[in-house]
Amino acid sequence: MEACQKCGACCKVLAMRVPKTDTMYREFFSARGLLFDAQDDEVLLVPSRCQYLTPENKCQVYDVRPDICRLFPKGNSYLPMGCVFRARNKSAP
Ligand code: SF4
Repeated sequence: MEACQKCGACCKVLAMRVPKTDTMYREFFSARGLLFDAQDDEVLLVPSRCQYLTPENKCQVYDVRPDICRLFPKGNSYLPMGCVFRARNKSAP
């Protein structure tokens, strides 16, 4: 298993899948400057820096962090740009 490089990418963005058929929502989000993933244009990226992430990309609540953080990247269908797990997993979106 690869080691986390502590880039903090997973703590700075929320990813939402917005199918191409949802043109109303896609236009709504695009009009507000939100971007889709460069490699999967159905994944909308919502900047959302976690309040517990330090400027040094350390988690201030690491010992009691939520399960979604504790399990990452397992069970996560989206790996953010810059994440070492995405870079090493060519099949990841
Ligand atoms: S709780 Fe910690 S691991 Fe989870 S998103 Fe926030 S900073 Fe990242």
